Formats: sequence, structure tokens, C-alpha cells
Amino acid sequence: MIEVKQVRYGVRKREILRSVDFHVEKGEFVGLIGPNGSGKSTFLKNLYKVLRPQEGTLSLMGEDLLTMSNREMAQRLAVMVQEQEAAFDFTVEEVVMMGRQARKGLLEADSREDRAWIRQILERTQLSSLAEQGFFTLSGGEKQRVLIARALAQQTPILVLDEPTNHLDIKYQLQLMELVRNTDCTVIAAIHDLNLAAAYCDRLYAMKDGIMVGEGTPEELLTSEFLLRVYEVEAEVLKGEDGTLRIFFPAPGKKRTSRKRAVKVAPEEDG
Ligand code: ADP
Ligand code: MG
Repeated sequence: MIEVKQVRYGVRKREILRSVDFHVEKGEFVGLIGPNGSGKSTFLKNLYKVLRPQEGTLSLMGEDLLTMSNREMAQRLAVMVQEQEAAFDFTVEEVVMMGRQARKGLLEADSREDRAWIRQILERTQLSSLAEQGFFTLSGGEKQRVLIARALAQQTPILVLDEPTNHLDIKYQLQLMELVRNTDCTVIAAIHDLNLAAAYCDRLYAMKDGIMVGEGTPEELLTSEFLLRVYEVEAEVLKGEDGTLRIFFPAPGKKRTSRKRAVKVAPEEDG
């Protein structure tokens, strides 16, 4: 579905991505993790063609991304990023409709089919009652939902999300991840929260200093050793009853206290 080989991207003398390889199969939900400034957003921008790599190849559904027209790309891949919000002075429905427009010609009018699809998307994202409201008047969580609705309206096989759950309450984080998971889309998402990434992603890529330093299922990749190497913090990795990983970051000075307290609360589990 997506094949990236040896992509290098730099600005002046600064290397931001060095020889990045990346591969996604149809239907996968792939997470991109890594510390702040490791190059995740820059990598995704190369993937949705806002930036152009100095070296390497990218292909989307078997076709060369770099020679593909923007229109062709928009029919394959939709993007949800945070920074664009400032540009909107439109109603919720209008913003979502923009996603629909992206896959068509500028002068093509909205069809009945378009409008039906938009109605359905608004419902699925629980935005129907806000359809007429101005984007600027929404809360942060509502704005995020509109941005994901806009990406879904584009009706592409691939979704690219750059930290889609930032600034959301936990309820809305889960709601958004569920929503994305329940589409048929192949998803690539930079995710800040490792617990969220572990719970929802089929596979993870980890980036550090512009290099892909690891790849695997959450269970394969997210070990204490690995987290220490990539994030430079001590982490405790446990497994919940549902099989999902639970990752904790004990504050360095408090490790001993927190362990004692855990024993007190659940003494029978202290093996
Ligand atoms: P992440 O999304 O993982 O937090 P970014 O891709 O945003 O990381 O940034 C990676 C690094 O590249 C950062 O150190 C950032 O300062 C740098 N960077 C990004 N864009 C530019 C640019 N246009 N010019 C110079 N440095 C940049
Ligand atoms: Mg980023």
C-alpha cells in the first residue's frame, strides 16, 4: 500500500530524515512514535507531499508519489493535521465538505451523493447538531472531530494523522481512535501517547533523530529496554487483562514509594 525507501530530507546543513524505510500493508493501522523533534511530522509531510525528499522513493498503491498529481494523491490519501485550523472561517458542514472537494475538480458542483455522504460522516462523528455552527466557536475536542470528519469525507483508502488526539480528554481520545479504527482505511498516525498507540495500532515504527530505530507490534517493540534507549526514561511495561500493554513512567525520585503503595493496595498480587 505504501512503500518508502531510503528517504532523506534535510534543511540546509541539517539532516532531519536520514535514510528512512517504511512500509504499510493494506488495512493496517500503523503508529509512528518517537520523542519530540525526532522527525515524525517531517516524515509524514514527505508522505503527503508537503515536503519533497532529497533522496529516496515513495510509492502509494504501487505508483510513484513524487510524480503523482495532487488530485491523484487526494483520491488516495487524506490528512489530518492540527496546524491548519487557523485558516477556517466556515461552518462545520462547510469544513467537512472541503474534504469532499479535495477529491474533485474545483468547478465540480456537490452532487446528491456528496451531500448524503457528508450527512453520514457528520452523524458518525456526532457532529450533526453542530453542522451550522462556525468552526471557530467549537471546543478543542469538537474541532478535532471536524478535522477527522473532513479527512473521512475525502473517502480515501489511506488516512494520515499527525497526533490526532492531542489536547483531547481521554474520552474523546478513545472515541477518535475507535472511529478511525472502525473505518476500512489503512491508517498511519503519529501518536504521542504510547498507551494509546499500544492499544490501537497493529504495528509501530519508532523514530529517533531522523532515523527509524525500531519496528514491530506494540508487544515486540515496547519493552523497557527499548523505551530507555529511545526516550531515555525508565518505563515499566505491564500487560492488562485485555492483553493490551500498560506503560508507566515512574517519576525518578518516587520509584520506591510507588512500588510500596502498589503492594499495599493489592497485597495478594505481590508474588
Ligand atoms: P516531531 O514531529 O517528531 O516532533 P518534526 O518532524 O516536527 O519532529 O521535527 C524534526 C526536527 O526537524 C526538529 O528538530 C525541528 O526543529 C526540525 N525542523 C523541522 N522543520 C524544519 C525546518 N523547516 N527548518 C529547520 N529545521 C526544521
Ligand atoms: Mg510532530
